[in-house]
Amino acid sequence: MSFSTETKNELARIFPEKHCCRIGELAALTRLDGTLHIDENQHVSMVITTESSPVARKIFRLFKELYHIEPKIHVQRKKRFKKNFLYSVRVGTSPKMMRILKELGVLGDDGEILPGIKKALIKKKCCRRSYLRGIFLGSGSINNPEGNYHLELITNNSLFAEEVVKLMDQFPELQAKISQRKKSYIVYLKESEQIAAFLNIIGAHRTLLEFENIRVIKDMRNKVNRLVNCDTANLKKSVEASLRQIKQIKLIEEKIGLNKLPPRLREIARLRLENPDSSLKELGEMLDPPVGKSGVNHRLRKIEAIAEKLSPS
Ligand SMILES: [Zn+2]
Repeated sequence: MSFSTETKNELARIFPEKHCCRIGELAALTRLDGTLHIDENQHVSMVITTESSPVARKIFRLFKELYHIEPKIHVQRKKRFKKNFLYSVRVGTSPKMMRILKELGVLGDDGEILPGIKKALIKKKCCRRSYLRGIFLGSGSINNPEGNYHLELITNNSLFAEEVVKLMDQFPELQAKISQRKKSYIVYLKESEQIAAFLNIIGAHRTLLEFENIRVIKDMRNKVNRLVNCDTANLKKSVEASLRQIKQIKLIEEKIGLNKLPPRLREIARLRLENPDSSLKELGEMLDPPVGKSGVNHRLRKIEAIAEKLSPS
């Protein structure tokens, strides 16, 4: 099961306690997955389609509890992807229909189609959370955090996408962006902190725990990799330095002999020749009395300067 499906299954089981939030969530689901049908007698019905059976059940239950309507659920196999099912929740014509469509923000007060989000639906903070949960259930997806961090909500309406971003902006921890993919508008989050905050806001607490666990392990793995890379880089640098120093010392030996060096330089030159793999710190510890890393470095620089003077170039 994909991470998205798991998240939706958890969210589909959350049933908002408050009446206002139930309307908010159903409004978002209707807005994203619903289509209106008008027959020849001007009777209006509505079909809400989803690939998730828990979401279909949730829509059914919301209509039943809010409006005492029992929609019909149809199941069909999706043609192209035969493994997936498509659930259609059909709300038949009823005298309550116009009131329901207005309350859910599908229609405005004058019966016009509302492209954006009806203000009353997202006035309260509790309802904003529910509305966002409805949007995620209706059109959202989230990547498995093992891969790239990505959460998105898709809509075919640019104004609606902008209003969703504004709605998310009311939570300071979220900074959603919009991109366009063919005829769709994608509202997305990329930062892992923001995705975690979003999951928390819409109440996906179990998913959030799993997300955080994977994130912690992934961060740790990245840190270890960085340390290993850094160690490798340092090791390479010190091996190269040691080879260079040995070359310089051998040059001095050949041209003037190590005995011409002052005792402190002669001592470190011999130690370096005998211990090509030792770090500066280790070389310093071999001296009597011991010398720190910077002291060793200082002496080796003097050797380098002498070698440069002797070098034929
Ligand atoms: Zn509410």
